[in-house]
Amino acid sequence: MKQARTTIIAGNWKMNYGPSRAAQFTMEILPQLNQITHHDYNLLCILCPPAISIPAVHQLLHMGRYTHIELGAQNMYFEEQGAFTGELSPHMVRELCSTVILGHSERRMYFGETDEQVHKKTLAAFKHGLRPIVCIGENLAQYEAGQTEQVIRTQVQGALAQLPEEKLGDLVVAYEPIWAIGTGRAATPEIAGNVTGLIRQLYGEMYGHEAAAALHILYGGSVTVANIGTFIIHPEIDGALVGGASLKPDFVELVRQAAESSLL
Ligand code: PEP
Repeated sequence: MKQARTTIIAGNWKMNYGPSRAAQFTMEILPQLNQITHHDYNLLCILCPPAISIPAVHQLLHMGRYTHIELGAQNMYFEEQGAFTGELSPHMVRELCSTVILGHSERRMYFGETDEQVHKKTLAAFKHGLRPIVCIGENLAQYEAGQTEQVIRTQVQGALAQLPEEKLGDLVVAYEPIWAIGTGRAATPEIAGNVTGLIRQLYGEMYGHEAAAALHILYGGSVTVANIGTFIIHPEIDGALVGGASLKPDFVELVRQAAESSLL
């Protein structure tokens, strides 16, 4: 077996599937997903529907008590409550979810989220017992200019500094090169593995070797049934954040491949 860290597959549905369609799709995939995650596999699957569809999916998961299938939000605000129209508080998210995706590149790109905000949200997630999946990654121009290392360093140091050490075990980082998201042009496992290795190294400089060895780092960017296995077998990659491919019934197959590859 490659490593002791749990393999995590998180499906980011983005702005797709309202409550009825989300419930229908969940019912379609749940029985098979449950069979896979109920095996001996050390695998966790997290479904991240749009906020308005979370209750519908929660109800289905709760009815079946699917212990290795959890629910995540795609974003939240860091304040506890108040006059923040349109936002969700950490407490609200925690009522139905175990996990929250933070700092996704689409949040950064279209809604101006900064590392400082992502840092505040990460602290808020910890405070409320949520598992943050913090997304980082360079854009195409930065990648082509050879600036990946510098961008990753800035994001790790900006979003992940001064976190409470007793909560570090809950943290998940997703390396998502922006040029690979939704483009069909996935990074090679070698590129993804090098950058996840760099993230682990930078994190280790901040929190020590033991914390770095325990950190879960996912890859995201055009992951499909066809390529998931090649990422999972890389020793530095602990799973995937999956966008487009998490909206199709063969997401189940993707999760199966991840489970099987994690045993190699
Ligand atoms: C994502 O939404 O985080 C993502 C990686 O999308 P896709 O898998 O569609 O590239």
